[in-house]
Amino acid sequence: MSKKIIIAIDGFSSCGKSTLAKALATELSYVFIDTGAMYRAIALYFLRNSIDFNNEEAIEKALTQIKLHFQFNPSTGKSDMYLNNENVEQAIREMYVSSKVSEVAALAAVRDFAVAQQQAMGASKGIVMDGRDIGTVVFPNAELKIFVTADPAIRTERRYLELAAKDPNISKESVSENLAHRDLIDSTREHSPLRQAEDAVVLDNTNMNQAEQFELALQWAKALI
Ligand code: C5P
Repeated sequence: MSKKIIIAIDGFSSCGKSTLAKALATELSYVFIDTGAMYRAIALYFLRNSIDFNNEEAIEKALTQIKLHFQFNPSTGKSDMYLNNENVEQAIREMYVSSKVSEVAALAAVRDFAVAQQQAMGASKGIVMDGRDIGTVVFPNAELKIFVTADPAIRTERRYLELAAKDPNISKESVSENLAHRDLIDSTREHSPLRQAEDAVVLDNTNMNQAEQFELALQWAKALI
């Protein structure tokens, strides 16, 4: 008899965490949650409504106006992020959101708001969640914790190709700067910084393709299920 577990996938920006998490969830018939999408949707709301990131009262008030949910999209085989019932899956991937999301995600009130919802989503296990603090803060008791990493130049190249397919005007420098900027803020912030959990297994995918990473992670998961 197989048991349901929690799989926590953390790591730097553009390491392919979501792709791996989604593939594992599909294979295991688990729920996949992209927590970065939640922080991006909150950042989008703050930017649209000109919320001052230094004004705690304004932040608290804004959070009461935000309803987040995921809804499965059969055409992509993935769940889309909804902000107050609007599908924001495309909007949250725009560079102006990417350039501010880490500042928003560093705010304690924002983290409390998002983490509570993430913990509720994983309460009945059978979940693959990717982010920065899943194995350390959201689910410190997750049965499998994977810390994904890759050479920064490879990460830039992969993200650049992905973004350039949608926007030919994007420059590789802006992608590289954005990744470095987010990694720095994410790993040095005061509240739940990005770090490898002591009991996490490291997956360095610099020289691996998606299928190789998937096979390795699946073996780790199957050994626990
Ligand atoms: O995963 P993705 O790159 O889309 O995440 C966007 C941003 O959201 C990250 O750079 C980080 O600042 C924030 N984030 C976070 N904690 C998570 C997931 C994402 O702080 N669990």
